[in-house]
Amino acid sequence: MSRLQEIQCENCGAPLEWDGSYGKAVTCQYCGTTFIPAATTMEDVWLMTDPVARARYEANGTLDKLEHDIRYEVMRGRDWTALDREYLREIARLEAEGVVRRLASFWAVSPHPPVFRALRDGALRLGGQRIPFKKGEEIIWACPMTRDRFNIEYPVLIADFQDMRVQQLCGEMTNAMQGRMTP
Ligand SMILES: [Zn+2]
Repeated sequence: MSRLQEIQCENCGAPLEWDGSYGKAVTCQYCGTTFIPAATTMEDVWLMTDPVARARYEANGTLDKLEHDIRYEVMRGRDWTALDREYLREIARLEAEGVVRRLASFWAVSPHPPVFRALRDGALRLGGQRIPFKKGEEIIWACPMTRDRFNIEYPVLIADFQDMRVQQLCGEMTNAMQGRMTP
């Protein structure tokens, strides 16, 4: 299931092909530096994951599989973007202000971000844009695959997804979701 991706040499920045094998060292053919790609810290790998979802994988002995999915299908061998991190700050701000409430459930697709419900009309600010939501709607961080598939510019889904909470890896997302998730 590995596929060639382009990464940059950590030392000289040269473009290198990488087969997606995490934990396997790559040597830069330009400067000779050897490094391990996608060495995102463990803490950061779980940045978007609901702790309950993570604990469930851990209990099932499949945490490695989830980690792999997050590193390759969700993060695509890169780091979280500035917008991803901005989303986290915004949702934390809205929660602190009592505008949204964190539900006792998490999104169906890996990395299983927590689901928030709007307690009143409001808006997130992402990348300088105001993204409005209405009271009762659910707010969920949207992974790159979801963004690509539904042509969403910002990493957030706003809608009602109550029937969709079945555990699923990002790489296994079904077409059945398409109709439901169209904003
Ligand atoms: Zn190099």
